[in-house]
Amino acid sequence: MVRPGLRSRSLRRVYRRTPGGTTTIHFEKRKPKQARCARCGRPLGGVPRGRPRELRRMSKTSKRPQRPYGGVLCSRCLSEMIFLAIAGQSS
Ligand SMILES: [Zn+2]
Repeated sequence: MVRPGLRSRSLRRVYRRTPGGTTTIHFEKRKPKQARCARCGRPLGGVPRGRPRELRRMSKTSKRPQRPYGGVLCSRCLSEMIFLAIAGQSS
């Protein structure tokens, strides 16, 4: 039996195969929820889920799309908002 603090389901269980061939359970903290668009709420693509420690190891360019509002708005909302901004200027 593992120690009481690890019996909680608030930690996720990761099955790891050791070099000796046995499978052991590693207890890890759960990943945060998928990042969502600030306007429509759809899940954002190209934004990884990870604990801060994992994200810190990644480069900035691999953490969100390289475009204006990347990681905040989805591509569809951004193109709509650009369209509305241009339409508003001309009238
Ligand atoms: Zn959106």
